[in-house]
Amino acid sequence: MQGAGPLLSVKNLYVKYKSYWYTYHVLDDVSINVKLGEKVGLIGESGAGKTTLLKSILRVLPTQGKITGGEIFYKDVDLLRCSKQRLLEIRRKNVGMIFQDPLAALNPVFTVKDQMLEVLRYANERADMNKSDLINMALDLLRDTLIPDPERVLNSYPFQLSGGMRQRIVIAMALASARELLLADEPTTNIDVTIQAQILKLIGDLVEKKGLSMILVSHALGLVRKMTDRVYVMYGGNIAEEAPTSKLFNEPLHPYMQLLLKTAPKLVESPLTEGIKSIPIDYRNPPTGCVFHPRCPYGDQEVCRKVKPPPIEVEKGRFVRCHLYGSGS
Ligand code: SF4
Repeated sequence: MQGAGPLLSVKNLYVKYKSYWYTYHVLDDVSINVKLGEKVGLIGESGAGKTTLLKSILRVLPTQGKITGGEIFYKDVDLLRCSKQRLLEIRRKNVGMIFQDPLAALNPVFTVKDQMLEVLRYANERADMNKSDLINMALDLLRDTLIPDPERVLNSYPFQLSGGMRQRIVIAMALASARELLLADEPTTNIDVTIQAQILKLIGDLVEKKGLSMILVSHALGLVRKMTDRVYVMYGGNIAEEAPTSKLFNEPLHPYMQLLLKTAPKLVESPLTEGIKSIPIDYRNPPTGCVFHPRCPYGDQEVCRKVKPPPIEVEKGRFVRCHLYGSGS
């Protein structure tokens, strides 16, 4: 179900990280959008810039990170120029984020109740709400995440709970603020592999039930395929390809996406035959031309080494940054 205009629109975003000696060009001209009710996937290797993109949207980059160009609009609110108050309001009431590491997202010295009530107070500035209303809201959120025995969990400390339980609490806390948009940043990275699919399914079901839009960052390509309407493929701080999910997985255009699919682990097919040449990007001095050219099977052309490919609309709603699809190719 998709509405008319974008709920979120990121245009030509540039982000740099600065250390004492170096500047790292982490996002380079990134544009994405999310429509009302839409589920969008963001895929690519670790270090491609996916987390930086999500943190830029909420303006929670670490202090070394600087947005140096572009714009981010949430509906008609310019998130890079609005007042701090307006930004806080959007974080409180509209957009929630599930961070990668549930243990880091929870404070070990406070009970789950203390932490959930704090989030709920923050998300519900209503004078008529008392503590027992907030506790009931916290229990409802925990029930939504199918946590067994929510009363006991609410009075526990994070270290007394399993990784899966902690991640469910983090999801419940994100849902307290995510009344329109949920940003889920590799929500299963640090939990047991046996329950990763379960947690992702839970997130998908809750997003559906609450009518939320979502950006899902995940390495689990099969689940991204099932859970999203459209996908952005990131490589080296760039969007390499953007396409409706089924088209991307059935007919990937960008050489990086083609390799990613070839090398994705499959349980029932032949073993891996081919890998992607492993050359980590030096963000202090990214490759000239196409950022993927040192690893691309077609990257020895002069144009690939010298000219950064622009986004090319190969069909309505489908973009690829690759010279193979440029004019005259
Ligand atoms: Fe490969 Fe060239 Fe396309 Fe980049 S532009 S992905 S190097 S073919």
